[in-house]
Amino acid sequence: MLRLISLGILGVCWARLCLAQEALPAQANTPAHSMVIRARTLIDGTGAQPRANQEILISGDRIVAVYAAGTRPPPAGANLLDLGGATVLPGLIDCHTHIFLQGEVPAAGGYDVQLLKFPASYRVARAVVAARRALEQGFTTIRDVETEGAGYGDVGIKQAINEGLIPGPRMFVSTRAISTTGGYNLEGYAPEIAVPKGAQLIDGPVEARKAAREQLDNGADWIKVYMTHRSWLDEQGALVSQPTLTVEELKAIVDEAHSWRKKVACHAYNGIGLQRALDGGCDSIEHGLELTDAQIAQMVKQGTWLVPTLAVYYHDQDAPDTPGGMRDRKRVAVHGVSFQKALRAGVKIAFGTDVGGFPWSEPIAQEFPRMIEFGMTPMQAIQAATSRAAELLGKRGELGTVAPGAYADLIAVAGDPLADVGELKNVAFVMKNGSVFRSTLPLAGN
Ligand SMILES: [Zn+2]
Repeated sequence: MLRLISLGILGVCWARLCLAQEALPAQANTPAHSMVIRARTLIDGTGAQPRANQEILISGDRIVAVYAAGTRPPPAGANLLDLGGATVLPGLIDCHTHIFLQGEVPAAGGYDVQLLKFPASYRVARAVVAARRALEQGFTTIRDVETEGAGYGDVGIKQAINEGLIPGPRMFVSTRAISTTGGYNLEGYAPEIAVPKGAQLIDGPVEARKAAREQLDNGADWIKVYMTHRSWLDEQGALVSQPTLTVEELKAIVDEAHSWRKKVACHAYNGIGLQRALDGGCDSIEHGLELTDAQIAQMVKQGTWLVPTLAVYYHDQDAPDTPGGMRDRKRVAVHGVSFQKALRAGVKIAFGTDVGGFPWSEPIAQEFPRMIEFGMTPMQAIQAATSRAAELLGKRGELGTVAPGAYADLIAVAGDPLADVGELKNVAFVMKNGSVFRSTLPLAGN
């Protein structure tokens, strides 16, 4: 018999289910709970054409089978959840987030007040809200690329999520990030005053390797390195960005991280710093505002990922007639061209937004229309945020796909995201690890 499942009850159940599945995985003798999700349309994240009328059998936190609706009897005791006419997709993955940033506006003190005035507890409280916001919007996995002066705060948030204490996405964390003297905020204060820095600053390969070891020892899943810092326009109006680490410094970090079987993400805009990032063997270029043809060819050859973060550069641009404003417009102008060239050349591209650089109250999915504006098909953009992102994270087949063996991370949208990718801004159903986190769909089940 079908009956409506109260959304309120689902909300309350979330923490309990999550606890049952994440905090107590050792109780292997208890048979895992089974559930069948019925999808009118399924986009599985692999790039395959959508399939109509599918059922997804879930046991515990994993997908067990995907098949045409009605072709198998449901297992005894399994719950059926019919998502009506919605389109079901894998949980989305944002490969570039900052839960410890909130899109600070300069008028409210900007970046600096976070490090100078806010208690750590306040920053953690806001990060908890940001993590929940990611999950609410259907991002069931994030790679959070540094805490901006909040130390190892991301490690603790990840732990609390995994233990079911707070709602949030599956997190890959990179802790403090690494740059050099002169290579990160805070800056612009009297030289006599020691101010905190938003990243761990190193000089020389020995310090670089030590910083990587410390961060890995304290729970970093990825190492984040800033390979460029300030940017401005030169006399010819070309974008210039200040390089930070040398190739030798980066190589020490990459060597250390790779020997721990971890990877290195490099913030790099263009020029010397971006070239050093590639020559030093980084695994993903973050932003990549202005890639030369030779750099694109090197990325293809080395298998380097690009996480472009297009949308964030349209936020908070300085006034057009100011040096900062002209730089901001140049960034956007070259970024789109770089993305198009990289896409055509076959560079591996994963979805990333830099959310936190803009407020968590805004839709994270605003990145999708930008990716399409610059040449991706809606299916390619969805793949970038699902199966391709999972590949970047070393979780191919486990995340970003709706297939047997994958984690039961599912979302649903009311419309067709292939016709209007903006549908992904209105995710109506979110399941993570086989537990329904939220739904605004009229759910029917047994
Ligand atoms: Zn960032």
